[in-house]
Amino acid sequence: MSTPMFERAALIGLGLIGSSLSHAMRRGGLARTIVGNAQSEKTRDTALRLGLVSSVYATPAEAARDADLVVLCVPVGACGAIAGQMGPHLRAGAILTDVGSVKGAVLRDVGPSVPKGVHFIPGHPIAGTEHSGPESGFAELFDGRWCVLTPPQGADQAAVDKLTAFWRACGSHVEVMDAQHHDLVLAITSHVPHLIAYNIVNTARHLERVTDTEVIKFSAGGFRDFTRIAASDPVMWRDVFLNNKDAVLEMLGRFSEDLTALQRAIRFGDSDTLYKLFVEARSVRRGIIEAGQDTAAPDFGRQHGTPKQPGT
Ligand code: NAP
Repeated sequence: MSTPMFERAALIGLGLIGSSLSHAMRRGGLARTIVGNAQSEKTRDTALRLGLVSSVYATPAEAARDADLVVLCVPVGACGAIAGQMGPHLRAGAILTDVGSVKGAVLRDVGPSVPKGVHFIPGHPIAGTEHSGPESGFAELFDGRWCVLTPPQGADQAAVDKLTAFWRACGSHVEVMDAQHHDLVLAITSHVPHLIAYNIVNTARHLERVTDTEVIKFSAGGFRDFTRIAASDPVMWRDVFLNNKDAVLEMLGRFSEDLTALQRAIRFGDSDTLYKLFVEARSVRRGIIEAGQDTAAPDFGRQHGTPKQPGT
């Protein structure tokens, strides 16, 4: 192995993102040793069995000790308490980062526990699937996807550059922005879409005049795409909404206004408005394909095997 970027990387949390990071790091030879921690013995055993880590520890503090890269891959709501336990054990000069889907709350909750000399640079790979757990990860998850870094003011530029190089070596494009802006962007591109999916699936479940069997049988009409998103991990998504409250409420307000306009156009048979809005919306899909963030392959028929689709 040529000189790896990090001597000892500690993954705190070994679910979809933690395990994918392990695979990507191994693919790129990015760390000499990868160690880890997860809350349950079952996940810790699975991680060892799969070779995701060479050692696994019962506490985050033990895993993080002596690591020059520590990555929090746990639900956003767990980051603060874990950082509190790890803080005194972090090595000077180490980079501490995370992969949480909300960045303001992670800065707020983790920041106070970071000792002087440790470089805390929050991050969020905009890549995922609806699956969770240590067996769901794969090395290609981050390929061609964006990873957003949100360094706090005064962050060490060399550490930001090193973490940028790390994510590029994992296959990602990297963008730096402030945490507040990240949370606003992700509220509309990820958090509200997930909320809509959870809501529409539950609305369908509660209908009296359409049976559950009919909903499942005729789901190819569009509903099943929402069910994929709504199958995402409930703990992760509970924490996203609890921790990105303001931005989500702001975007939901906009969404409700636009939905009311659509409702009105339908009620009054305003075909021009409906047509115009649908044409405009369709162009966004073309933009996503042109930007390489999805393929143009037809998906409603799912003729291309089991797709690993981007999530958050
Ligand atoms: P996941 O598959 O459910 O894995 C979560 C991991 O965190 C598990 O290993 C779990 O351990 C561990 N964990 C939970 N609470 C813990 C605690 N208090 N102490 C120690 N370990 C704990 O979740 P994931 O999808 O990898 O998500 C992890 C993070 O990535 C979240 O912050 C999420 O917002 C972010 N993210 C997710 C996606 C996505 O699409 N899933 C995309 C981008 C970013 P056990 O298995 O033992 O319970």
